Amino acid sequence: MLSARMYEYRQPLVLEDIDVPDISPDQVLVRVGGCGMCRSDVQLIDGYFEPALKMKFPITPGHEIAGLVERLGEQVPRNAQLAIGDQVVVAAGWGDGTCRECRVGNEQLCEHGSWPGFGPPGGYAEYIPVPYRQLIRIEKRLKWDELAPLTDAGVTPYRAIKKLRAAGVLGPDRMIGVFGASGLGSYAVQYAKLLSAGGTVVVFARNQEKLSIAKERGADVAINTTSKSLNDLKQELSRLTGKSTLDAAIDCVAAEETIRTGIALLHTSGAFVSVGLVGNRIDIPLFPFTGRELTYHGSFWSNYSDLQEVLALAQKGGIQHSSKRIRLQDVNENIDLLRAGDIIGRAVIVFDI
Ligand SMILES: [Zn+2]
Repeated sequence: MLSARMYEYRQPLVLEDIDVPDISPDQVLVRVGGCGMCRSDVQLIDGYFEPALKMKFPITPGHEIAGLVERLGEQVPRNAQLAIGDQVVVAAGWGDGTCRECRVGNEQLCEHGSWPGFGPPGGYAEYIPVPYRQLIRIEKRLKWDELAPLTDAGVTPYRAIKKLRAAGVLGPDRMIGVFGASGLGSYAVQYAKLLSAGGTVVVFARNQEKLSIAKERGADVAINTTSKSLNDLKQELSRLTGKSTLDAAIDCVAAEETIRTGIALLHTSGAFVSVGLVGNRIDIPLFPFTGRELTYHGSFWSNYSDLQEVLALAQKGGIQHSSKRIRLQDVNENIDLLRAGDIIGRAVIVFDI
């Protein structure tokens, strides 16, 4: 099978023909139909996770995976309801199943967990072995380039915005800011609208084309942040919405600057959630944070049931997608485009199956 693998950090992936992997008795061999390319794949290649995750080379990246069931291990139980030819997605975050986080359903937070594409082979290949418990079957088939990104870009902001909803800061009379309008941001504006029962959604980003797409996806207001001070942003927000602060914000970039800006724009009792991983540190002034009772949430990827909810929504036609189909052969040039922020929507490696 064709695969694109890493043999060292900070080098292009190596395209090569390798054997189709074996599966263990509790695994399913999935023939990959689509694999989304995530900003974190670029970070993996660039060594961002090198200090935290000990991985053995070669590494096959790719964690936004959808495909067809090709073969079932002999211990995959009948009540898993999987059959050869089923369209499936891979829920990432494979926990040990025994710790407290796993027991409450948050396998993506397991201390002994692993993630395909960050150790176990990922979807930049024609086939992948997957534990059967990590597959979700799709009843109403979706296109590969629409389905694959839902497993990360399309679900991570969903979980995060659910945290804002639980914090009580969303509603039709509230305003929510979405920072970033790339892969995650173009989904985030849709969930912001949906989960706030029609609250005002303001998207902040630097790329005009991405901002226009975010407006098509449901953002009420788009603000280009290029070379604008905090004061400029407050004035523009006030001019466009009548209010100069946000009740809630989701940061899909999480550069040190977007965190500072997002927190500084929050109204008293506001809440902020980070899903991006661009920066390394959070540097915000303590006084308004404590004195105005602001809240900061981290939100990591999603659990299995968050993904089931998003897939249900997608199968009902409730999600608009923005993707760019590419071939595995063109993966390296697309990694460069992704690193430069020059991909509109989600680049998805699509196989001809
Ligand atoms: Zn666990």
